[in-house]
Amino acid sequence: MKKPVIVQKFGGTSVGTIDSIYTVAKHVINAKNQGNHVVVVVSAMSGETNRLMSLAKQVDSVPNARELDVLLSAGEQVSMALLAMALDKLGHKACSLTASQAKIHTDNQHNDATIKSINTDTIERLLTQNNIVIVAGFQGINDNGDITTLGRGGSDTSAVTLAGALSAKECQIFTDVDGIYTCDPRVVTNAKKLEEIDFPSMEQMASKGAKVLHLPSVQYAWKHNVPLRVLSTFEVNSGSLIKGDSPTREVAGLAINRHLLFIEIDEQFIVSATTQCQMLGINLFSVIKHPDRSGIVIEHESISKLDLVFSDKIRNSSEVSLLTVVGLRAKGLIKSSKQLLMECDINVVDHFLDNDSLTILLSRDCVDNAACMLHDAYIAQGQAFDDQKKHMLLG
Ligand code: ASP
Ligand code: MG
Repeated sequence: MKKPVIVQKFGGTSVGTIDSIYTVAKHVINAKNQGNHVVVVVSAMSGETNRLMSLAKQVDSVPNARELDVLLSAGEQVSMALLAMALDKLGHKACSLTASQAKIHTDNQHNDATIKSINTDTIERLLTQNNIVIVAGFQGINDNGDITTLGRGGSDTSAVTLAGALSAKECQIFTDVDGIYTCDPRVVTNAKKLEEIDFPSMEQMASKGAKVLHLPSVQYAWKHNVPLRVLSTFEVNSGSLIKGDSPTREVAGLAINRHLLFIEIDEQFIVSATTQCQMLGINLFSVIKHPDRSGIVIEHESISKLDLVFSDKIRNSSEVSLLTVVGLRAKGLIKSSKQLLMECDINVVDHFLDNDSLTILLSRDCVDNAACMLHDAYIAQGQAFDDQKKHMLLG
């Protein structure tokens, strides 16, 4: 009988040192010894993609997109080879593959490509020859055979898409936290780990800035029913499972998108600014048309692109962040959120609503404080209330 396939993805911190790479190798061997075929997807060693990006930016503030992909994709090739060597040293057959060798085909959108198809022939052949197959995350090839990359954090999407193509029994995303939390635990220290979270809430969290999973990976797993789990490389645990088609929690969590810029532009130029953003592939987070303040909100990183064509229309720019409350009750929480934040002198610049979410725009230096406040009010206290109820029920 054919063995089941497991896809395991390891992020940058998990392959950050040779010691960690040996820890990764143990997880992989464990999964193999349990009777599975194992396909591993790796990120670049921690800090490496940023290092390569900063080299490119020293050459040109808006580097040539094709060449940037050639450069950035190098990081993953280092870690995949090191892991293959470690597995080999531990006595297990392993073979690393670039995206081109693994036949991961994408569209032509350099720096932000989408996977179109994967031809799994080579991977399957290697698996049946008893190999552990290691695939470079984050990269693909387009129809010209050129290297593309999937956008920052894209290795999650490589892993989930491979899991779908191979009909894997589970896709496991190993990272340096032990699961999905109600908010970034580095910011909100009493954030709670969720044993399970539904796909729509996870999609909202990822689309609004929670970095734990790359948004397309959540969307792909949801659409193709790929069982998806997030767990820690460094602790023994069962992590968090992403499962279910409908939101179940009144407030599931809070997402922070920290590094944004509010670009002030006169109202008459807003339409042309949004058109420019579309043409340049710049993500627009919000368009603000207040009589006293109008402009757009974009990622900090995109400013150099916009500057090339629009610098004469930009009046001012300030660092802002978005804080998003996700859950069935989220949309009804604007009044109370404004009230709670006002009590701490935090000004809400703007807000908007999406599927079961409320997003608040604030100045960057307030966002951590605001996240703690709202987490306390909507999640920590809500949970205390639930516990109290349970206690009463149980006597
Ligand atoms: N190495 C790439 C990045 O840092 C891709 C990834 O880690 O998922 O964005
Ligand atoms: Mg990531």
